[in-house]
Amino acid sequence: MSNPIKDHFNQPAGLAGTTLSYGVLGAWIAGFIAVPEHRDILWLFFPFTGLIAIIAIAVRVIRPFKGREAIPPSQCPICGASKPTAPVRYLQLTGLVVVMLMRELSVFSCRSCSAKAFVKMTRHTLCLGWWGLISLFITPGFILNNLAFLLRGLLSGSPRRFANHLLDKRRDYVLNMLASKDENTVVEVLQSDTGLPAQEITRYLRALRTGQ
Ligand SMILES: [Zn+2]
Repeated sequence: MSNPIKDHFNQPAGLAGTTLSYGVLGAWIAGFIAVPEHRDILWLFFPFTGLIAIIAIAVRVIRPFKGREAIPPSQCPICGASKPTAPVRYLQLTGLVVVMLMRELSVFSCRSCSAKAFVKMTRHTLCLGWWGLISLFITPGFILNNLAFLLRGLLSGSPRRFANHLLDKRRDYVLNMLASKDENTVVEVLQSDTGLPAQEITRYLRALRTGQ
C-alpha cells in the first residue's frame, strides 16, 4: 500500500545555508551545556549563532515555497480531504556516524496530516538524528524547524479563510445565481457544492452584496 506522506517525501535541495546555520546553533548549544562557567561569553556569540538560525527558520516559515505561496489549495494533497491547508516543510534527519540522510516533506497540508507528519518526522529525528559527527549539531535546528511549521499550521488556515477561499473561486457563478435566484436557493446550491456550513455561506453572500 502506498504511504501518502512518503509520496511527498523529497531529498531536500538548497539546504546548505540552512543546515550550516543549524549546525552553528547546535555547536553553540553544545558549548552552553558543556562549559557552564563560560556562558556569559557564549551569550556574546548568540547573535552570530542562535539568532542567525532563528532568522533562517523564520525565512523558511514566512516564504516556504518561492512563487508558490499565493493561495493554499482547498484540498489536502496528502489525504485528499476538502479542508484548510497550510504549507509545511518538515525535515527529518538520520545520523550515520560520518554521513547523514536528510528528508523533507515540502507540501501544502491539512492540520491532521501536518500533525501526523510532524510526529513521525520529529520522532525519527529525535531518535536517529544525533548519531553522526555533523548531524549531532544539526538535530536541534531540524527540531526547531519542525516546531515552527507545526505552529504555523495551527495558526493559519482558519475555517473562515478557507470558506472565503472556496467561495471566491466561484465568485462569478455566485453573482450569476444571486441575480436570478433567491438567497435560500443559492445557499442550498453552494452548501451541496462546497460542503460549507449555511451560516458561512450566508455571511459571504451578505459581504458580497454590501461590497458591490
Ligand atoms: Zn490531509
